[in-house]
Amino acid sequence: MIAAAGSGQRLGAGGPKAFVTVGGRPMVEWSIAACRAAHSVRSIVVACPPGHVHDLGGGDVGVVDGGATRTESVSNALAAVGTELVAIHDAARPLVTPELIEDVVATLAADPDAAGAIAATRVTDTIKRSVTDAALTTAEGANAVRMVKQTVDRGCLWAAQTPQVFRAEALRKALATDPERLAAATDEAMMVEAAGGRVLIHPSAAENLKVTTALDLKLVEMLLAERSAGV
Ligand code: C5P
Repeated sequence: MIAAAGSGQRLGAGGPKAFVTVGGRPMVEWSIAACRAAHSVRSIVVACPPGHVHDLGGGDVGVVDGGATRTESVSNALAAVGTELVAIHDAARPLVTPELIEDVVATLAADPDAAGAIAATRVTDTIKRSVTDAALTTAEGANAVRMVKQTVDRGCLWAAQTPQVFRAEALRKALATDPERLAAATDEAMMVEAAGGRVLIHPSAAENLKVTTALDLKLVEMLLAERSAGV
């Protein structure tokens, strides 16, 4: 399942991020190509933003309407899948490889007691927790000076990426919860964890980055150009 229904507001490209051209194709098509090349993928369903449903569809790709939140988009896609394992991928990560998808699937398949497995990369920056100050979290305060409350030990910190692969039953149960909690979720693994499921980490490369800003888009263009030149 590919989550492609975000608005792309932070990228400021004037339209949904998943349909911004990168490396000569709409961004989502890079993820579709990686899924097609991954042997364990049986079917592909894309959650699209309103008005873009007809831009994909046809052929081997199923399309569903996205929702107002990421989890809603994923739930809509989940209703259209019938496999025992499901993999969720962000269209905003066009550098995903078929190998990474296969590796995360294999990590989960190897542990019958696990509910999910996710791609994640080690945190390389030193992480500080700031003093909570609601007044500074407003738009005006976004870049305001804050005070450090604590330095977090980064030895066991990971930045979660996608693909995230789950046993479909565990994911369905985890998503059948209070809509407010679902809306606040930034990935599906946190819902599965909260429901008591064991989630495994497959270490992946930082290159599988998520396009959020114009800088990320530039990086992805460069990395895709390197790939097609065989660098
Ligand atoms: O906003 P963010 O970059 O974290 O979104 C991650 C992924 O979730 C993107 O690929 C985006 O298209 C998708 N998404 C979605 N439906 C939403 C919001 C985000 O499919 N309502």
